[in-house]
Amino acid sequence: MYSASAKWLHEDADIMGTRITVELFHKNAAIARQGVDAVLAEMRRIDRDMSPWIEGSELVRLNREAAGHPVGVSDELFTLIKTSLHFSDLTHGAFDITFASVGFLYDYRKGIHPDERRRREATELINYHNLVLDDSTHSIAYGKPGVRIDLGGIAKGHAVDRCIGLLQALGIKQALVTAGGDSRMIGDRWGRPWNIGVRDPRDEKKVVAVIPLENVAVSTSGDYQRYFEENGIRYHHIINPKSGDSARELHSVTIIGPDATTTDALSTSVFVLGLKKGLALVNRLPGIDAILVDAHGQLHYSEELLPARKPGNSVKSPTETPAPQP
Ligand code: ADP
Ligand code: MG
Repeated sequence: MYSASAKWLHEDADIMGTRITVELFHKNAAIARQGVDAVLAEMRRIDRDMSPWIEGSELVRLNREAAGHPVGVSDELFTLIKTSLHFSDLTHGAFDITFASVGFLYDYRKGIHPDERRRREATELINYHNLVLDDSTHSIAYGKPGVRIDLGGIAKGHAVDRCIGLLQALGIKQALVTAGGDSRMIGDRWGRPWNIGVRDPRDEKKVVAVIPLENVAVSTSGDYQRYFEENGIRYHHIINPKSGDSARELHSVTIIGPDATTTDALSTSVFVLGLKKGLALVNRLPGIDAILVDAHGQLHYSEELLPARKPGNSVKSPTETPAPQP
């Protein structure tokens, strides 16, 4: 889809198994167009390099070979894996890209989950300390056979940040880039903040809060993106590394922060950590805010978003829409 009004451009595309949106302004229409094209090309490139499914991607090679011998990877992949390990440390292992050692046993489209024994066995392999990184050669080895990684909890945020960097290099000062649940904006929109909606996790037509934002990133993780139900239990794509099973304490987590790599990793992390530990982490981190929807549909805000928020906070109060019925 492609539309242009004045010199604001808006384009959507399906890349990385998700919906990509670019909205931007530049007084020179050719530069605006160049910006949109650069974003879509970058999203396609990152998908090719980091998809766990695309044969020939660096990640596929890593998962196939790194248990046998160290595998050299690009600077970009090496750095993103290092960043992932940083979030593993920060969250005491709630964020762990080796979750994929179990994750691959689920097929949400086909409604397949591992039986308990298989799940337990594979969960033993989840541990980010099983990844051995060599800074001098940018190579990675897996400490045990059976270990796998997947960057689904951070790669979209990384892609959004890369795209924002490309737009800034073109001199674009007003833009929004979204990949699925991960967005980042530069500047404002027509002189007003961007309004980002937090959807009702149980009704895609409803929003439970609208947050006016400028110059920040925002990510939402929810249990409604990829899931199936069996005997009243929802199996979805965010995995608690301790159990190898879906995390079920929350229905959705929205994180606001300076960049999309951070907000993407933290939205997945806080989802796993649950209400108490998740909010405690967010309140400890400067410049990070959160809106959580618990299993009863109740909204919870981090301290800075509460009505008695500190003056001068760049994040304005969210507008709450009626809470959903549990
Ligand atoms: P989405 O990919 O739908 O935007 P998230 O940002 O919450 O949602 O990421 C969910 C993805 O993160 C999963 O599809 C999976 O690839 C990955 N993932 C699941 N559990 C974990 C975990 N404990 N640590 C790191 N990544 C995870
Ligand atoms: Mg995430």
